[in-house]
This record gives sequence, structure tokens and C-alpha cells, in this order.
Amino acid sequence: MRIVHLSSEFAPIAKAGGLGEVIIGLSRKLVRLGNFVEVIIPKYNFIDSNKLNNLEVDLPDFKCLGHSNTMWKAGVEGCALHLLEDHHPAKYFQRDEIYGFDDDIARFTYFSRAALEYLRLKNEPIDVLHLHDWHVSLCAPLVKDLFKDLMVKSVVLSIHNLEYQGKCAVHDLDLIGMNGAEYLRAERLMDENPNFPHSINLLKGGIVYSDAVIPVSPSYAKEILLPEFSFGLQSTLKKAAHKTRGILNGIDTTIWDPSKDKSLVSTYSLETVTKGKQKNRESFDLDLHKRPWVGAVTRLVPQKGPDLIIEAIEKTIELGGTFLLLGSSPIAEIQEQFNQVQKKYQGNPQVLLNYNYDDQLAHLIYGALDLLLVPSRFEPCGLTQLIAMRYGTVPIVRSTGGLKDTVFDCDDPSVAVEKRNGFTFADFTKKSMCSALERAFHLFRTDPTSFHTLIRRGMQSDFSWKKPALEYQKIYAQTSMKSKAPQKTLKERIDRLADTA
Ligand code: ADP
Repeated sequence: MRIVHLSSEFAPIAKAGGLGEVIIGLSRKLVRLGNFVEVIIPKYNFIDSNKLNNLEVDLPDFKCLGHSNTMWKAGVEGCALHLLEDHHPAKYFQRDEIYGFDDDIARFTYFSRAALEYLRLKNEPIDVLHLHDWHVSLCAPLVKDLFKDLMVKSVVLSIHNLEYQGKCAVHDLDLIGMNGAEYLRAERLMDENPNFPHSINLLKGGIVYSDAVIPVSPSYAKEILLPEFSFGLQSTLKKAAHKTRGILNGIDTTIWDPSKDKSLVSTYSLETVTKGKQKNRESFDLDLHKRPWVGAVTRLVPQKGPDLIIEAIEKTIELGGTFLLLGSSPIAEIQEQFNQVQKKYQGNPQVLLNYNYDDQLAHLIYGALDLLLVPSRFEPCGLTQLIAMRYGTVPIVRSTGGLKDTVFDCDDPSVAVEKRNGFTFADFTKKSMCSALERAFHLFRTDPTSFHTLIRRGMQSDFSWKKPALEYQKIYAQTSMKSKAPQKTLKERIDRLADTA
């Protein structure tokens, strides 16, 4: 099958969180399964071209809405990575960050349309156009309406986070050459919120117009049908239920491999995990005797439970452990809260608070921790608990979304014994979180054998892309078989070749 992913991220060159990792991990696996995989992302300013093999111009100059663009291409892990460089006066992607600009709507709607203009010029049949999140959701209505001539058999949308939807005005659609008013209808892109009857919702467009909708875990697929998790799209999601199916993300087991990880001071396997972690801990300027080491590697946004993380820092110190936090907040008030915590614990050898985005340090932290805390309010899939388990770090998670599908409490009699691999708590409260933390401390200190059993179960689990990629492949096959997309006849193709010769 020929599969084209459209995304705003691609790890490691353009990664803000889990999305970038998912795109490379899934693509790599799909290539191994014999598919031809292409990925199109914006050519951000900060992308280090030296990290890309054979980067070359693919199409030097093509137009989108009268503006020039250049498409670049590079081979990455067997897939063709395309990078769209815009020459728009607003310099949409000549920025130092992926997100967070006032014109994000204009940037990504432009990217969506320009990517389709490129595919139109390439004029090659595509089995699946796979869209990821709101940034490229507009491609679904565009393909079905303005780009009907594209030979795309099916459009699949993965929802990595329903919280971000790309809400905008009718005028924003006009700006990229659509008749915005046409889409302001309940059965099209009109936002469901009755207080904003003139709003367009790009993610809704993706849900309505795609042939399949994939939330990134089975539990999240169920939860988003409830008012508290649907972020206002309950009715749209209910209508799309017949074509919706949750598929759990995997992790890229070549990037995340404690036995080969170059970012670790000491690599290790299940047999050497205790010694290896000890060596990794020695590289930090912290008290090695205050155990267990607990930590979190996360964006500090309300979804991730920042208040619970602060509480966990306090509780860990009180219980005589050590806490390592790697993460920062795009929200000033939350960052300020953490700055206060930083001040309070300045110089304390039981605490490391690092507010940068640091991939290498993240690896080292996973390789040093005993316990990883993920106290999310909601979690579409979550990768950090999967990475942690692969690194022999026992997760403590709030039971929601993908966390619920991957972490099973060691004291839960309703779960088969061999499946139990961590600590979970149900309520999004400090009390509930602290009680799980205390149970983890207790097991760590009083029953090392049972604690090691949890480490073993995590390290022996298969969180690779093998199973999820096969599930995606099944959806691709089902949706593209039903397709009524235009397919060029041999004569049409020969005529076109003659035209371009
Ligand atoms: P998100 O909602 O942010 O996508 P996930 O759990 O799906 O959450 O994925 C987060 C990914 O980003 C993980 O690979 C994690 O290690 C990484 N990450 C998060 N914060 C940082 C940081 N400050 N520095 C380095 N890596 C980070």
C-alpha cells in the first residue's frame, strides 16, 4: 500500500511531544510490513539538515494560493520524508517553535492545502492519506471537495488529543480558497458549541469527512463519547462511532532501548537493571541514599495534573525519597507555580527540577528512576509510562485512557497476576495519588522481590509498534477497498506522461 502521513511533527527532528514519536515509529513499522510510506511535514527553521540523509530538493517551485513553495525530500528509515518550505510573506514555518503562534490556524491550514497541491502535481495513486490531529484535519474536507481529482482511496484521521481542535472563523477557510460559509453547517465544520454559532472547528472536519477515525487507545475511544472528555464534540463523535476504533500507540523500541541507549551512562538489560540504574543515578548530583527515585517527564499543562505533581514532590521528600522532574509549561501561571517550588527546594539533594526540553536527559532519567508518575486528568495514550516500563521503571498512573489500557495495579485482584505491572489510582485527587505513591514506597522498601517482579513484567512486555501497525494496516485495507476515488486508466496515465515528456 502507498500511505502518506500528514503531520506537524516528526521525531527526532521536529518533536514537541508524543505525536512526533508516533509518526516515526508507526512509519518505520509500516515500511517493514512492506508498505511504501511517505510523510509530509513543514520545513521548520530549527530542523537540523545535517541530521537528514540525502536531503535534496524534490519540487523546486510550486504554487499554493499564488505563493511559492519548495518541497524537499530525504530518506528516513526506509520512508520518504517530505519537508514543505513555504515562501509565503508571513514566513509560516521559519519559526523556532512548532506551535504557539497567533497565526497557527493560518500556518497549518496553509500547510494542509500546500501539501495537497504538491500531491496533485505528483499525480500518483495513494491508498491512504493518514492525517494526524487538527493541524491537518482540513485535508479531509479538502480532498472530498476541492481536490476530488486526487487519486486518494481513503482518508484516515488519528486523534492524538481531542483537547486541541483548531477552532477558527469562516473567514479562515475563505483565506485558503474554500467557501467558508458553505462549511458553517452542523453536518460539516460548524463548531458544536451553541455559544459560538459562527465558529469553524477543523478537527470536527477531519472527523466528519474521514473514512476512519482512530483515537490512540481503546479506552480513550470510549471516554471521548462522554461529556467530560469530548471537549464539546460529543455529538460529532457519536455520529462517527460506526467508523471509530481505538488503536493503542506503540513506542519505537530502537530509540527506546536501555541495552543500547547512548544517552545512558550505563546501559542495562533485565539481568543487570539494578546495577545499571545505580550507575545512572550516580551521574546526578543528588542523594543516592534517598530511595526510591520517583520522577515525571512531561509537559506541565492542566491535562498532566501539575498540582498533583507538586504534591508528589512534597510527598516524596516527606517519605524520604528523591524526585526528578523534567518538563516545562507553556502556561505562565503554571510555570510560575513550579518556579516557586524550585525556589523552595534550591540546593536540596532530594530534588531535581529541570524546566527544559532535553531529549538526552529524558533518556537518562528513565534509566535512573525507580518509579514514574503520570497523574493525568485524561490521557489519549501516553508514551512515558510505556518508555518507563521498557526501562525497568515502575509506573504510578491515574487510570484513564491509554494509561488504563497499559498499567494494571499490583494489588488489583480483578486483574490476572501476570498482567499486574504498576500502581494505579482512580480519582483525580491529591489523596488518591498520595495513597498510590505510599503503596509504591511501601512495596519498594518492604518487598524488593515483588517490586522486582513489577520491573520484570514491564521490561518483558511488548510495547513495540508490531501489533498497532498491523491493526492500522487492517483499517487501511478496509477503508481503501470501499473507495470510490477516481483511478486513472492506463490510457490517461500514458497521455499524461506524453504531456509531461
Ligand atoms: P504528550 O501529551 O506530551 O504527547 P506523551 O506521553 O504521549 O505526552 O509523550 C511525551 C513524549 O515527550 C515522551 O517521549 C517524553 O519522554 C517526551 N517529553 C516530554 N517532556 C519532555 C521534556 N521536557 N524533555 C524531553 N522529552 C520530553
